[in-house]
Amino acid sequence: DLTPVRRALLSVSDKTGLVELAKTLAARGIELVSTGGTARTMREAGLEVQDVSDLTGFPEMMDGRVKTLHPGVHGGLLALRDDDAHVAAMKEHGIGAIDLLVVNLYPFEETVARGAGYDEAIENIDIGGPAMIRAAAKNHAFVNVVVDVEDYQPLLDELEVHDGRTSYAFRQRLALNAYARTGAYDAAVSAWMADTLGETAPRRRVFAGTLAQTLRYGENPHQGAAFYTDGTARAGISTAEQHQGKELSYNNINDTDAAFELVSEFLPEDGPACAIIKHANPCGVARGASLTEAYSRAFDCDRTSAFGGIVALNQPLDRATAEAIAEIFTEVVIAPGADEGAREVFAAKKNLRLLTTDGLSDPAAGGLAVRQVSGGFLVQDRDNGRIGEWELKTVTKRQPTSEELADLLFAWKVAKHVKSNAIVYVKDGATVGVGAGQMSRVDSTRIAARKSQDMAEALGFSTPLTQGSVVASDAFFPFPDGLLTAAEAGATAVIQPGGSMRDDKVIEAADEAGLAMVFTSMRHFRH
Ligand code: 5GP
Repeated sequence: DLTPVRRALLSVSDKTGLVELAKTLAARGIELVSTGGTARTMREAGLEVQDVSDLTGFPEMMDGRVKTLHPGVHGGLLALRDDDAHVAAMKEHGIGAIDLLVVNLYPFEETVARGAGYDEAIENIDIGGPAMIRAAAKNHAFVNVVVDVEDYQPLLDELEVHDGRTSYAFRQRLALNAYARTGAYDAAVSAWMADTLGETAPRRRVFAGTLAQTLRYGENPHQGAAFYTDGTARAGISTAEQHQGKELSYNNINDTDAAFELVSEFLPEDGPACAIIKHANPCGVARGASLTEAYSRAFDCDRTSAFGGIVALNQPLDRATAEAIAEIFTEVVIAPGADEGAREVFAAKKNLRLLTTDGLSDPAAGGLAVRQVSGGFLVQDRDNGRIGEWELKTVTKRQPTSEELADLLFAWKVAKHVKSNAIVYVKDGATVGVGAGQMSRVDSTRIAARKSQDMAEALGFSTPLTQGSVVASDAFFPFPDGLLTAAEAGATAVIQPGGSMRDDKVIEAADEAGLAMVFTSMRHFRH
């Protein structure tokens, strides 16, 4: 099943590595055919190249919209070399076989990502490229198709090993990559159109991603895994730069994303903030006068769980904070930058991964969130809901004080990033108790208070940390019990969506306990 490569068609937008590839192919005696810009680059490097217009008998026309869409090209890609009728047709129409296709497409994704206008985006939809890729991939019994600069070297290696020929298995793998590429490409066009047409467009689009990284394993070691990106990159896990430490695992990527999305709720100009995440839930979130203080206050919420956690910061990491973080085992630190001093401190910690981003994620940005169910996906808008102080409705006799109000808004932002049922106690801009993922709200309320009590004992405090705190609940309290548990733990004010059938009972209980309570009218379930 080894077939020789005698003639190659190269048509690439990204000219990286083109000349080196073409030179090695030419040295093997492979004939080169090419389109306008690609041919020019190769000729300038002294290579002999045939123009694709010689194959088609047509010039490139309509601003390059029509270059290779012709039987002279597609016949050469699609003809079955072992079928007499196909071979006869090639002969009759003067079509030469093309054994290798090297194409990378117009950079549609990059064009859209840099905010290009409608017309420019349209012009960057490649037509001839995907047509050729799909043709060559279909005919992988005979034809090699390369769609990625990264595959140039493996191709050259294959030709080297088999003396100018390639194996069927190799061509199959190339074809698989090729269809993944055209699928992701059209999905990007579809996503762009859906976004551009906005809310008036029906939610019809295709979901696809491009393989960014093969992971060692998934959530558990017996599960294979990979990371795909979908071209909607913003500051965050898909664009972060890793400076040290071993490769991120599946769980690291998931948790680091959760950490960074949470800390991005806190604008850097409003002061330093830190979030520590374990199993996608925060075990401590805090503001501080300095970044170091924000970290240590977040750490003090739940020192036990913070071990082996993921730390996210809303400001560039400095030396002092790096030193504080390095005191315990931490898996990943992600921040919008890290200074020299911080990097020096971490350099000694070989297992710690440091990731830096270009700014923070925008919590108000749109976008889609996808999750899998068996047999399909659920798709919804990203939870970019935010509540301003003016939108809160006080429902109790007592108004929250300005200190309570600041903590209530802080607690609400954190609760949005805690798995439901979420209960978050906050004092002076730091979480002091987090209850996550329970099936009953009252349990989340109790667990958070109990953990806080344990922490206070460990720190040697005589009163629980929840004493004088405020509490946020991601959805309404269906009964007064959860609210009363929070009051017993020492909470003085409550933020919750409201909307329960028994709101009046809950409000009554709050009034009796002397609590101030505000309703947001917005829920933040997260599962
Ligand atoms: P060049 O720089 O060689 O002028 O153009 C290379 C690009 O043109 C590649 O990205 C290739 O996918 C694309 N291309 C090749 N044939 C056609 C065609 O017939 N129509 C369009 N729209 N693009 C083509």
